[in-house]
Amino acid sequence: MTRRTLLALTAPPLLAAPAKSTLTEAYRAGAARLIGAALTDADGWRKMMYLCDRVGHRLTGSPALEEAVRWAAAEMKREGLDNVATPLVKVPHWVRGDERADIVAPVEVPMAMLGLGQSVGTPAAGITADVVAVGSFEELEKLGAARVGGKIVLYNVPYQGYGRTVTFRSEGASRAGKLGAVAALVRSVGIPGHRTPHTGVMEYADGVPKIPAAAISAEDALLIQRLIDTGETVRVQLKMSARTLPDADSANVIGEIVGREKPEEVVVIGGHLDSWDVGQGAQDDGCGCVACWQAAVLIKQLGLRPRRTLRVVLFTNEETQQAGAKAYFKSVSGQVKNHVAALEMDGGAERPTGFGLALANATSEQWSRALGRAQEIGALLEGIGAGQITQGGGGADIGPLVREGVPGLGHRTVGTRYFEWHHTPSDTLDKIDPREFQLNVAAIAVMSYVLADMPGRLVE
Ligand SMILES: [Zn+2]
Repeated sequence: MTRRTLLALTAPPLLAAPAKSTLTEAYRAGAARLIGAALTDADGWRKMMYLCDRVGHRLTGSPALEEAVRWAAAEMKREGLDNVATPLVKVPHWVRGDERADIVAPVEVPMAMLGLGQSVGTPAAGITADVVAVGSFEELEKLGAARVGGKIVLYNVPYQGYGRTVTFRSEGASRAGKLGAVAALVRSVGIPGHRTPHTGVMEYADGVPKIPAAAISAEDALLIQRLIDTGETVRVQLKMSARTLPDADSANVIGEIVGREKPEEVVVIGGHLDSWDVGQGAQDDGCGCVACWQAAVLIKQLGLRPRRTLRVVLFTNEETQQAGAKAYFKSVSGQVKNHVAALEMDGGAERPTGFGLALANATSEQWSRALGRAQEIGALLEGIGAGQITQGGGGADIGPLVREGVPGLGHRTVGTRYFEWHHTPSDTLDKIDPREFQLNVAAIAVMSYVLADMPGRLVE
């Protein structure tokens, strides 16, 4: 068997062009109406402007996030969505406070930095120590406690995609703290180029000293590395007044179109309403919230009440502990089997390309059937370039449902620049093209409407 034949035989069916099919044919007219409505809709963008420009960034525990919750629920009621609710969710409450990081020797340079979410602060006088730079955890371990103890560890790791690099942000402080380091700096996890620090959540391992952790811009990390490489001892001073307050009250925002035939069966669609405390949380994830929400509003306005219930959920606290996702999952325990699909948009609103499908514990027969059906729906989005259905999807907020076997659809875009803006002060509304936003609304409206209305389920 040649390698080529092997590839052909094992290539997933998603590579084949979807055949003309009943789902595609049955929903062609409805999909055209939804796409037309989305591409002429101005109200979704009005909501994006309000959320980004008037409410602004929405860190868990902040008054702004709760203002966003109240505003979204009031708007949903005004729009006539059914069963609008804001069930209480207790959320962790971390605050950044004042912070700065300076190279103090052999040169004096203030750095572009952002403390990492959930980090402890420093003493008021700050922490001043020599820097040890490493490019991997292996290098750190090799240096050992003798050379890491009392130092500030810098993880100078080039960005190689979010999934591969984020581990230094999440675990770096504890790995260094275990060896006696006094603080950890992480070269920002994102596409570099504008001396921008990228924040994000970090976690402390149990039983390890909690040391402060901050992200610095790639440019500052490279400067420190160059100085060290010439044999200099680099000293840094880190000052952070970050602290964790008692848990706060927050809420998920829920609105529905109750199904006309099987109201107990549900398609969940949504994103997360919280954001980091820099920028406006426009790409991450105001756009995911408003696109899913507006998709439901357009379906309602066109009078297309689907067979099953379409439920929009704007989740709280995705960025640190996914408390909103966990609370939603708990609230539907016993009804998980009634969730016929869950769709999440949390990768920004660049030009949409399609959806990734996740199926836990499915047989290969169920897989190919579900993929085939999703592709039939995807074919309705080929005209706007958003019809690609790939294997592997899901998302943090629908994760608990997907792990229990609910088919998960992860919204996909070209993703060209998302990680330049992600978790930075530059995640502002101007980074979203209004036309591309409309295309995303169209893709979600068509996918979610057909999932909620089609006679069978993706997986039966
Ligand atoms: Zn996000």
